[in-house]
Amino acid sequence: MARVFNFSAGPAALPESVLRQAAEEMLDWHGSGQSVMEMSHRGKEFMTIAAEAEADLRELMGIPANYKALFLQGGATLQFAMVPINLLRGKASADYVNTGEWAKKAIKEAKQYCQVNVAASAEDRNYSYAPAQEAWKLDKDAAYVHYTANETIGGVEFHWQPHSGDVPLVCDMSSNILSRPVDVSKFGLIYAGAQKNIGPAGLTIVIVREDLVGQALPQTPLMLDYKTHVDNDSMYNTPPTYAIYIAGLVFRWLKQQGGLAAMEKHNREKAALLYDFLDGSGFFLSPVAKPDRSLMNVPFTLKKPELDEEFLKGAKARGMIQLKGHRSVGGMRASIYNAMPLEGVRTLVNYMKEFEAKHG
Ligand SMILES: *Cc1c(COP(=O)(O)O)cnc(C)c1O
Repeated sequence: MARVFNFSAGPAALPESVLRQAAEEMLDWHGSGQSVMEMSHRGKEFMTIAAEAEADLRELMGIPANYKALFLQGGATLQFAMVPINLLRGKASADYVNTGEWAKKAIKEAKQYCQVNVAASAEDRNYSYAPAQEAWKLDKDAAYVHYTANETIGGVEFHWQPHSGDVPLVCDMSSNILSRPVDVSKFGLIYAGAQKNIGPAGLTIVIVREDLVGQALPQTPLMLDYKTHVDNDSMYNTPPTYAIYIAGLVFRWLKQQGGLAAMEKHNREKAALLYDFLDGSGFFLSPVAKPDRSLMNVPFTLKKPELDEEFLKGAKARGMIQLKGHRSVGGMRASIYNAMPLEGVRTLVNYMKEFEAKHG
């Protein structure tokens, strides 16, 4: 069977070579006579897998020694709560930048624990841009500053490094982690659900500066305290072992591709192909401000929305799936994470050209 080009926002496409290797190792991992799924998480085999995954992640992202890399569960959504629970540290408020659907969810959760100061918001223009640093009204007494590096639904991405002074900067990187190099030392904490740009759903990565760990709110369940996971090397309870294994294969694949600088080049090339076409088209439109367009999630609309269904049907017939936009936005969305090959974007653009010529 031919594999499709999967433009899903998440769970999303994985590198084919990773899936092939996982298939080969499914019944017998490295002569152990067992599948990774069946291994004890405290056994020598799995400990090796987990240690390698962490080492490769640290190498890829250049994570400094005073940061912990945790492999947790509960999705980015649980981090919306764990961040205030752990990082308030006796302070009454936190600053949030409101850029769209995911930022709003983070804000909603934080409001359960503290006063939320919306330091900047893109609501005035329907979340179609990233508010400039000069527009951020930061409070120097805030416990932390939270922003969403890439709004997966709106297709808005920060292409610059925000500053938060001495206040720890917290970032939801769920949909653009590993898509380009980042300077981890600029952050207090980074988190990301794995199912966009890393691996299978069920795994959440948290990268946290050591000095921010160990001051959770009273009565915090141990599972929600970063300290518990730091003290137990992310093995306080049974971790999502198979998801960690696949993430480890993806990390190795990223290293083989040349690391994050090479991924950025590749991702820019893919995104440019699509955005250049959109800018030249009189039929397909991008709703996002040019400087803030996401390299990962590309929403677009048809001039004649009554043709949406026909567009999707034709795409499917050509082996391209999951192009329907999020229910809150409508139109289309092409998610083109690390694992989407250039050929997939080329196939999409060629189809869009053909569709425009017929219906434009
Ligand atoms: C998908 C997503 C989330 C939610 O992730 P879950 O793993 O489903 O909890 C949060 N933030 C961003 C930016 C996302 O793309």
